[in-house]
This record gives sequence, structure tokens and C-alpha cells, in this order.
Amino acid sequence: MVLCYNIAMKLDRFDVIIIGGGAAGLFLTSQLPPTISVAMIECGERVGKKLLATGNGKCNLTNLDIAPERYNEPSIIENFLNRFSAKDAITAFQKMGLITKSIDGRVYPYSECASSVLDVLRRACDRDGVQIFTSHFVNSVEKKDGLFSVSGTFSRVDKSGNSEKSARFDKSSRAGNEKFKFTAENVVLATGSPATFGKDSTGLYAAFGHSVRQMAPSLVPIKTDKAAIKGLQGVRVKAGVRLGDSYEVGEVLFKDFGVSGIAAFNISGELARGRAKVGDTLTIDFMPEYSLAEVEKLLCERDNGSTVSTLLMGTFHSRIQERIICAAGCEPTDKAEGRISALAKAIKSYKLTVEGLGDASLAQVMSGGMNVREFDENLMSKKVGGAYAIGEALDIDGECGGYNLQWAWSSAKAVAVAIANKCKTQNCK
Ligand SMILES: Cc1cc2nc3c(=O)[nH]c(=O)nc-3n(C[C@H](O)[C@H](O)[C@H](O)COP(=O)(O)OP(=O)(O)OC[C@H]3O[C@@H](n4cnc5c(N)ncnc54)[C@H](O)[C@@H]3O)c2cc1C
Repeated sequence: MVLCYNIAMKLDRFDVIIIGGGAAGLFLTSQLPPTISVAMIECGERVGKKLLATGNGKCNLTNLDIAPERYNEPSIIENFLNRFSAKDAITAFQKMGLITKSIDGRVYPYSECASSVLDVLRRACDRDGVQIFTSHFVNSVEKKDGLFSVSGTFSRVDKSGNSEKSARFDKSSRAGNEKFKFTAENVVLATGSPATFGKDSTGLYAAFGHSVRQMAPSLVPIKTDKAAIKGLQGVRVKAGVRLGDSYEVGEVLFKDFGVSGIAAFNISGELARGRAKVGDTLTIDFMPEYSLAEVEKLLCERDNGSTVSTLLMGTFHSRIQERIICAAGCEPTDKAEGRISALAKAIKSYKLTVEGLGDASLAQVMSGGMNVREFDENLMSKKVGGAYAIGEALDIDGECGGYNLQWAWSSAKAVAVAIANKCKTQNCK
């Protein structure tokens, strides 16, 4: 069993303090040699909460088709993927006891349960020298005389296991013994992002002079004008989605406020990164396998004096069919002849006006975070030696499909190797 402390501890010293017990922090802990003493400090009542929500509870932990271009910073990510690839991640998890399987290149635990990934990570972290402090919220990191001080407040857990949240959120109840302070030669910021739930704790490195690009929801539904999606709520199709220069084919799920699904999620990055804006036109291609000319030909071949409605019947969901007919400026009872070109255009580029991004509470990741260029090839701060950052706290985000967890693993591995080498030469502690 992993040792989890949720009581105030005396001041203690470690080789490494990892702030954040999410995917990246847990993987880093699992990859550090047993000779290195580690404190993992997590503000939640347990570690790995977001991991359990990944991949709709199945955890898409990596992808066999990982490519740097699928991230916002291809030139930077390439180096990390070369040093620790999807294959390396699969091998590392296999060593921890996880059997994996791939579905269309997406890699999942064989059980298709995210809890299996968390279980093996927790077991790999369960060794002497690793202490996990849950319900500990870090609010300050300082460096003095070569040593980092990490301090904050904790919420006491009562006998029934319920956390006394007031200790963390109600200033008036913060008594002296509710504070903690640990020290270490190395500190790693693995605090993730507020996507769906979580926090932006990148401010912890502000005193070190790091710049942060404001976090914006990404891999999130896109809000659009309501008229064009009227009646479509809940309809799911495989379609192409275009916004600016970006085009994605995949699942599109219509919501009452806009579009969701993997294709929409991946396109949302265009807005999050400022390459598209509110008011831009998002087009949906309801027959992505065919060109415009091919769709026209197909419709012409089917037309035997039928109405617009019977011409399209059986090809689309009935509510999509209604919207296409409307967008083509037709009535269902109109004769199809003379309207095929307009119908084909509506099928191939159904237009929606972008009204914004969905909330962070609906996002899988945030675009933004600490400027990765201010960290070296081992993700150590170029401003303060011994301070590292990994995972989503850095301004790296990828597409849907296992890319973001792969970044958590690759970034954590780079830091694990760097700290292990450093401790070997410096004989830490
Ligand atoms: C619903 C959902 C589904 C997803 N599905 C997938 C998927 O299938 N595949 C994929 O690749 N990616 C997926 N992602 C993205 C992926 O989960 C994240 O990219 C990944 O978890 C980031 O790992 P991390 O360790 O950087 O951050 P997190 O996993 O968010 O961990 C950060 C931890 O730090 C803690 N923390 C923050 N601030 C403090 C503080 N001040 N003091 C102490 N602790 C702190 C947080 O409580 C949290 O536990 C999904 C995300 C969501 C929300």
C-alpha cells in the first residue's frame, strides 16, 4: 500500500519534492531510483483523480501514431518523444504489470479501466523513500542557500475519511499546526491544469521569474450560433470539421450550444491558440469520403424525378437531412432537379458561426502554462537550478487520442533521468 500522509508533519528534508500527484507526478515517482528520497504533495484527498476520468474512464494512455506535429510545439516535443516514445511508455507500463491493447492505434489498459493504470502507478510508487502527502495544498516555493522550501496548508481528514475542507478554504480556521513545510534539493512542478477539474498552480514558480501563457480551454466543445444546429442536440455523426486552415475528420456530437466530439475537440485548439476567433465560420463536411464533384454525381445518379427529401433519404440522420435541405435554401417537397448543386454544397460545407470555446469544466486540457523555452532539455528551469516542471503545467498540449498523457510520461521520464544522474554524481542527502 502507498503511504499517504494527511496529517501535519514536522519539517522534513528530501532529495526531491514533487508538487502534484497526477499522471506526470506519479510516473516521475515510479521512474526514480529507490535510493532517492521523494515527497509527493497532492492537494486532493487522493492521487490520480484526473487519470481516472481519462478516455471516458478507459484511459487512452498513448497512441501508436504519436507525431510531434500533433502538439502545439512540434520542434520542442520531438526531442522528448525521441528520448521516450509511445513504445517506451508501453514497455514501462508493462514492467509495472499493466497489459495494454490498441484500438485504431489508441492504447488502453487491457481492462479498459483507467483504475488499472492508477493501480500499477501507485504500486510502483509504493517503496521506501517515497512519501505521499494528500490533502496538502502547496502555496509557496522558495529557494534559499541551495535548498527549496515548499510550504502550504493541509486539510485534516476525520475518522470517516471526510476531509475537513475548511482548513484549506477558510482562512479563519488556519491554525499554525495546519501548515506544513518541507525542504529538498530539487523540486518538480507537476500541478497540471484546471481542465474539467484541477488548478492552475503555475504561479508557484512566478517568484523564479517564469513567464506563463494564460491558460485557455482546449480539447473542448465549440460554441456556435444556435440557428444552424437547431434540433440537432444529441445527434452524433462522422464528419469533417474545418476551421481556418485546420481540418479534422472524426466524431462530431451536436450539443444545444454548439459542437463536441473528437473532431470538434481537436479543432478547438485553433481558437485556444488564437489562430481562429469568435465570428469565424466553422464548416462541417457531412460526406468527408467524397469530393464535392463526387457528391453531386452521386445525387444526380439517384435523382429520378424525386423530391429533395426522398433524394437524401437514407443517407443522413433525419434531423441532419432537415438542416441540409434548409441550408440549401430548399423545401423538402421541392423537386430535386436544379437543386442538386446547392444540396451538395450544403452537404460538403455546412456553415456554423463560432461563438467561443466551452468552459474549462468541459475541457480535457488547457492550452497555455509555463513557457517551456525557459526550461532546458531536461525540463530544469534555466532561471533557477534544481526547479523542474512536467506535464500540463508547461505550455504543451496535444490532440485527443493519448497525446497528452504521452507528454506527461515523456516529460516525467526526462526529469527522472536528469535527477537520477544528478543525485548519482552529487550523492544526494
Ligand atoms: C475528462 C478528461 C479526459 C481525458 N482523457 C485523456 C485521454 O484519454 N488521453 C490523454 O492522453 N489525455 C487525456 N486527458 C488529458 C490528461 O488527463 C492530462 O493531460 C494529464 O492528466 C496531465 O497530467 P498532469 O500530471 O500534468 O496533471 P494532472 O493529472 O491534472 O495532475 C496535477 C495534480 O496536481 C495537483 N495540484 C495542483 N495544484 C496543486 C497545489 N498547489 N498543491 C498540491 N497539489 C496540486 C492536482 O490536484 C492534480 O492531482 C483527459 C483529461 C480530462 C479532463
